[in-house]
Amino acid sequence: MNRHFTSTIKPPAQQGIAGYWFIFKDQQLLVIENEGSTDVPWLADPEDLGIPVARQQYLGYLDDESPIHCFSAEIDNGTDPAPGISFQGLRSLYGRLPDDLFWLAGRAVQIVDWDRTHQYCSRCGKPAQTMENERAKKCSSCGFTSYPRLSPAMIVRVCRKGPSGPEILLARAHHFRPGMYSVLAGFVEPGETVEQCVEREIFEEVGLRVKDVRYFGSQPWPFPNSLMLAFTAEYDSGDIVLEEEEMDAADWFAPESLPQIPAPISISRRLIDDFIAKARQPAI
Ligand SMILES: [Zn+2]
Repeated sequence: MNRHFTSTIKPPAQQGIAGYWFIFKDQQLLVIENEGSTDVPWLADPEDLGIPVARQQYLGYLDDESPIHCFSAEIDNGTDPAPGISFQGLRSLYGRLPDDLFWLAGRAVQIVDWDRTHQYCSRCGKPAQTMENERAKKCSSCGFTSYPRLSPAMIVRVCRKGPSGPEILLARAHHFRPGMYSVLAGFVEPGETVEQCVEREIFEEVGLRVKDVRYFGSQPWPFPNSLMLAFTAEYDSGDIVLEEEEMDAADWFAPESLPQIPAPISISRRLIDDFIAKARQPAI
């Protein structure tokens, strides 16, 4: 069961209190591997691992019988791991770490990355100070304030009534692994609503018009700093015309003849699983 997480930047008053440490070397998480299990280290001080820490942050706490404190930190690229310690890409840890710790690691990597890349003001180049009362940095010279950056992206499932039942539009971008198809996705542009983004991306990538665009859910996607906003839509008009620079293939699929689809980590898979579940329900 996932524990509730409270995000806060104020660390516990007591010094040296133990907690989970999400320690990154570049985008890779430090984990301890022991007899087939993979764990986030539980430490009072990250330097107990014998690895010098460049920067550290307090993330907040998990609610349990008593609060479980969570910290993030960054170490230098050149650091070699001690025996039993390894650095692993976040995606490879899905299903190997408990879900709540996996998503906390996704939160941590974005905070660590933001802290590293915002040491100086992006307006005037002078040093930026970490603010005490919010997750922000303020320039010591011109006062410019910066916050952790998020890039909203939309992901959309398009369905239609086919000749023998419901069908889902799935497509392949050139960068997908061979044989895999998914629902369409794209980044929101400045000045655009997410609904407009849904309609624009579908038209640009596969040449179709859609209707009945509805919100489905959202998911943080820390690869590197997206927030995925998921929608469903119904086919309205047009024939599939691929945007060939980006897209390799697109087609309509019945639930019983789907191609390879994404792993359960992503909201794209939730959209597809929801289509399959609804298609199996008897018509009322
Ligand atoms: Zn400045």
